[in-house]
Amino acid sequence: MKKLLGMLCGLWILPAMPAKAINITVSVPPLAGMIAPLLDQDDELQLLLTPGASPHGFQLKPSHLQALHTSDLVITVGTPVDAWAQKVKLPDGQTLRMAQLEGIETLPFRAGGIWQKGGHVHADEHEHDEHHEHEQQAADSHKELPPYDGHIWMSVDNARILIQAASRKLQQLKPESSAEIAQRTEDWLAKISVQDVKNQTILNPFQEVPFLVLHDAFHYFEHHYGLNGVGSIRLNPEIAPSLKRILELRARVKAGEVQCIFKEPQFPEKRILAVTKGLEVNTETLDPMGVTYAPEGKQFSDYDLFIGELARHMQNCFEKKRD
Ligand SMILES: [Zn+2]
Repeated sequence: MKKLLGMLCGLWILPAMPAKAINITVSVPPLAGMIAPLLDQDDELQLLLTPGASPHGFQLKPSHLQALHTSDLVITVGTPVDAWAQKVKLPDGQTLRMAQLEGIETLPFRAGGIWQKGGHVHADEHEHDEHHEHEQQAADSHKELPPYDGHIWMSVDNARILIQAASRKLQQLKPESSAEIAQRTEDWLAKISVQDVKNQTILNPFQEVPFLVLHDAFHYFEHHYGLNGVGSIRLNPEIAPSLKRILELRARVKAGEVQCIFKEPQFPEKRILAVTKGLEVNTETLDPMGVTYAPEGKQFSDYDLFIGELARHMQNCFEKKRD
């Protein structure tokens, strides 16, 4: 009897066939923040970009190549921002490029005012601009694609599209978990929508407030919430602005045309000091990679937290009173 009971118990606790764990590699932290909530606990998620680094000018190491070649699925932004992650040739079925998904919203580079004159794609005559050359090369090699602002993960609507596409891929890779993945996807999208509505409430009162960013990474976010970014300090995040440009920006700040300036944790503070030193203007930090908003021990923040923190830091800066 005891033996039988033991056998029965043994059978009882025998789990259903566990789903095969899979390996996913993403290029930048915000992509990890979009898809992590869809994964099973034993699935592995690898991030290529070193946390704290800027994707602009990043280089792949041999260990990254290893990660790319041993992954079941590789997810990239698919714009010049993570061109380094797209250099490695992988089978089509194994990759997901956000930029190539149907319905992805693209916005043009900003020009005019104190944005870059003449558009982002054409290097300024007076500055050797590697970033722009990358953009140009990418544009040349993808002639069918018009050049557009590559920071497409900053659009909440684009994030939804990537999450749905990633969910379909995951369900193909793990058909035995398909129903659970579909349910998680639905819950996750609902959670993001809750944060999106909160963000609208937070940011709505500040739609007119003019602000500067360090580099033009937030266009999609500003567009989504109807904000009033008036320019960037750097035309290229890797290259220092000319003295002429710094003086122009300082004149705008002095004239009261800028209420807030956002720096970025990926770049040294001194990059905005040249513009703000001695002037009355609020400053705050915005992290386009979301790494600084991550809970301790994590290399990325989930997308709802990411956009929530961006909104909160913007609100902080817009509300700061100067005496
Ligand atoms: Zn950028």
